[in-house]
Amino acid sequence: MKKVLVLGVSGSIGYSTLNVIRKHRDLFSLCGASAHKNKAFLESIRLEFNIKALALTGSQQNEDSFYSGPNAIEALINASKPDIIVNGIAGSAGLAPSMLALKSGIDLALANKETIVMAGSLIKKTAIKHGASILPVDSEHAALFELSKNQKSTEIKNLWLTASGGPFRTRELKSFPQITLEETLAHPTWKMGHKISVDSATMANKGLELIEAVHLFDMSPDKIKVVIHPTSQVHSLIETIEGSFYAQLSNPNMQLPILNALSWPLKVKSDIGQLDIFNLQLNFSKPEEQRYPMLNIAYQAAKRALSAPLVYNAANEAAVEAFLNKQISYLQIPKIVETILNRSEDCNLCSLKEILELNELTYKQTEQLIMEMK
Ligand code: MG
Repeated sequence: MKKVLVLGVSGSIGYSTLNVIRKHRDLFSLCGASAHKNKAFLESIRLEFNIKALALTGSQQNEDSFYSGPNAIEALINASKPDIIVNGIAGSAGLAPSMLALKSGIDLALANKETIVMAGSLIKKTAIKHGASILPVDSEHAALFELSKNQKSTEIKNLWLTASGGPFRTRELKSFPQITLEETLAHPTWKMGHKISVDSATMANKGLELIEAVHLFDMSPDKIKVVIHPTSQVHSLIETIEGSFYAQLSNPNMQLPILNALSWPLKVKSDIGQLDIFNLQLNFSKPEEQRYPMLNIAYQAAKRALSAPLVYNAANEAAVEAFLNKQISYLQIPKIVETILNRSEDCNLCSLKEILELNELTYKQTEQLIMEMK
């Protein structure tokens, strides 16, 4: 029986993880959970799974029956003693908890892509030092993780990340200035939080995933390609040097990469990913540069490496927040991120403290730029 701690349990990854545990109670047990603010949801989990170790990370006050305050996650890890931690926290807030998990020598099922984007080198070093494994839960990286088991790195020509293309894949470019927040949040395939829905429309999400893949698979950015595949049944592909493509296919259901991460290194019997092979729609197309400017900006950041990926992520977080608050338009998001990235100087980031400081500084600089634009 594997004991699972879920961070960010009230988000979509947390929700899917709970469903995996419910379906496989003979294999996994929930030993603890954290949420940012959703106290009622934590209470319901306490009852259903009969657990005591719960953290309310967004609460500043002393909570009677929850860990809270700045050391809440650390206390939660110590109290729940998990075999594996699922990090489903949204955004850059997920980095410090990932570090805590790895420093405790606990395997990390990682859905928080910012962890790798902001601190790829440091995170990898920490995992090796403490003998913990990083198991990607992002569907594309989970696919590449499975596929790369069977490939020698010298025989890989390119890694291909599939992208749904988001809600504006077929929209006329000339109508992009009129894009509304509501249209942006209506994702065709996945039901997700607001931030990631915007990132999916702009392809900043794929940009973050490309940076993530650079670190997770030790590949140079120019060997990581993006292809649009609207039905999200192929989760990624590996192209080998002699000209073959290897793909991983399953139903678009986040429970599958979560199940594979939880059961790693084994596979367990499940109907979660079951695909109707007679009704496959395998269409692929090239992402247009004009439609998805955030993708190109991500390639620039990935090639610069060092602190540039962090700046890309922080500027995008601030810009998306402003878009969600209806302070800026859809088309201003890439303009703002590119401006901040061009202004930034690349530096080596050696500690979590330095990383978090630059993250905060970049976020503030982006907010400042947004204020000046008004
Ligand atoms: Mg993904």
